[in-house]
Amino acid sequence: MPIYKAPVDEVLFLLNDVFQISRYNNLPGFADASPDVLEPILGEAAKLCEEVVQPLNLPGDREGCTRHDDGSVTTPKGYKDAYRQYAAGGWMGISAPSEFGGQGLPALMTTIVNEMVASASMAFAMYPGLTQGAIAAILRHGSPEQKAAYLPKMIEGRWTGTMNLTEPHCGTDLGLLRTKAVKQADGSYKISGTKIFISAGEHDLSENIVHLVLARIEGAPAGIKGTTLFIVPKVLPKAGGSLGARNAVSCGSIEEKMGIHANSTCVMNYDGATGFLIGEENRGINAMFTMMNEARLGVGVQGLAVSEVAYQNAAAYARDRLQGRALGGPKFKDKPADPIIVHPDVRRMLMTMRAFNEAARALIVWTSLQEDIAHRSPDEKARQVADDHMGLLTPVIKAMTTDQGFANAVAAQQVYGGHGYIVEHGMEQFVRDARIAMIYEGANGIQGLDLVGRKLPKDGGRAMQAFFGEVQGYIKAHGDDAMKPYVGPLAAALGHLQQATMWLMQNALAKPDNAGAAATDYLGLFGLCALGYMWCRMAEVAQAKIAAGDAATERMKAKLVTGRFFMERMLPETAAHLARVQAGAASTMELPAEAF
Ligand SMILES: Cc1cc2nc3c(=O)[nH]c(=O)nc-3n(C[C@H](O)[C@H](O)[C@H](O)COP(=O)(O)OP(=O)(O)OC[C@H]3O[C@@H](n4cnc5c(N)ncnc54)[C@H](O)[C@@H]3O)c2cc1C
Repeated sequence: MPIYKAPVDEVLFLLNDVFQISRYNNLPGFADASPDVLEPILGEAAKLCEEVVQPLNLPGDREGCTRHDDGSVTTPKGYKDAYRQYAAGGWMGISAPSEFGGQGLPALMTTIVNEMVASASMAFAMYPGLTQGAIAAILRHGSPEQKAAYLPKMIEGRWTGTMNLTEPHCGTDLGLLRTKAVKQADGSYKISGTKIFISAGEHDLSENIVHLVLARIEGAPAGIKGTTLFIVPKVLPKAGGSLGARNAVSCGSIEEKMGIHANSTCVMNYDGATGFLIGEENRGINAMFTMMNEARLGVGVQGLAVSEVAYQNAAAYARDRLQGRALGGPKFKDKPADPIIVHPDVRRMLMTMRAFNEAARALIVWTSLQEDIAHRSPDEKARQVADDHMGLLTPVIKAMTTDQGFANAVAAQQVYGGHGYIVEHGMEQFVRDARIAMIYEGANGIQGLDLVGRKLPKDGGRAMQAFFGEVQGYIKAHGDDAMKPYVGPLAAALGHLQQATMWLMQNALAKPDNAGAAATDYLGLFGLCALGYMWCRMAEVAQAKIAAGDAATERMKAKLVTGRFFMERMLPETAAHLARVQAGAASTMELPAEAF
């Protein structure tokens, strides 16, 4: 059975030492997130994830979900009870407003807890994850009546939520969608159509399921500007809040798929189901866009979560598995062979995972903090700067973290040799589960296009310039000898990023294929720079803590070594990304389609 230990110390280091969130205690919810409050909350989350959720991950994968003849779906054994405990602990609404029953803590806390839940079981984490997405949509776009009717039940976890966008012929290009909405005399709509791949579309965890459905009102313009968002509950709530009649929405089938078997991926049939407009007619995509940053950040968290749990297992196995002798002579002479952790190639894989995980977590925590500032700060300028950061870094985090998260799950499997390929150890499950995060919530190729095509030029490049300015300022202010091994490589990487940005500005406008062909590499380059910056910030704090004789000195020393590994062995990849960006689109696009 795989193991998992929630990285509580790592999180506390980021919150208290690196980002010092007590500096934000003027923001709503932050005063309640003081270090003495955070620690027990994280401890409780860790306990739930390690003791209740994680043991279900492997058996849940084998059992999967079952659809019955009446259209109902049951989740694997133990899921219902684990979900009950999750909801009873108030985890669904830790960051939701207290007026609807939430705890009002920073959104940052939800991000952190969600990493732990997804490490314990990504399939399980998706049930509350989608509900939190639907809660955010209703909070942002719902009418006061809708908020009162749905939010308390969802925040309590009694009702769950879904997002229904995808149709058989339309995934990335949502402008093609056909699901129809016809207005009724009472102001409601009749929704008809088929949605596919709907995560948590039907299951047995909650009393009701609140579907958010993107549809086209009869007579609406073609394309994306004719789409509207609707609330379509599985069971229609009565005026007092109790459950009324069953709505005309049903699960036609569940998909057989590569991973996340314990999460039901449903074909949902809407047969004249009653739906309620949320937001404005024909502006459904705007409603979706406002949630997209948070949803994409959430998927990035999944990439990190699987990478972390895969790493923990690979490290434990590498300390235990005896094969061969260290190149410089036996290290464990009393044993028939040395543990494989003595081999530099095994170390290469472990260090790569570790160096990525620690920096990716820092980047996610930093960006999630910006989400709180963007929504909670009284200062307009601070809100704008934070919102710019979120917009710019979200596609980077979504794509980079899920690409590397999958690569790390494969590396962790590799550490196990043949045993990684065998079901028993759970490593092949991590590989299968991690794979979907690269595809849904906007396939990773689309994230690169979003970064290059929308986020870079937005507001005259304001967000990009702010990011470059911050990193440059940091490099200038930290030129001392101790920081040189970190800041020197970061300066080189930032130079590559600036050259790539300049190349795009000069070559992409006249020839958009140059931008399209460069997008994935540009995103990879951007991501490495952002991780490099996070390593500098962490190394600086680690050095200060060591100098002060902090109790965590050994952990801080390990951090400095891990950061050096990143700088020496991972960050130089920026040069290859730059070369590919500057190669342009010619060789990529030259062959005619018939030649493939
Ligand atoms: C397990 C699972 C769960 C899911 N859960 C949900 C859910 O809860 N709700 C929901 O609505 N959907 C869900 N989805 C759907 C998912 O979001 C889509 O599969 C995804 O957005 C991609 O759409 P598609 O599959 O139609 O691929 P396509 O859009 O056909 O894309 C195919 C490939 O072409 C590329 N591509 C497409 N257009 C462009 C372009 N303009 N430029 C460059 N490249 C392009 C893509 O990057 C991709 O690599 C889920 C899917 C799966 C498999």
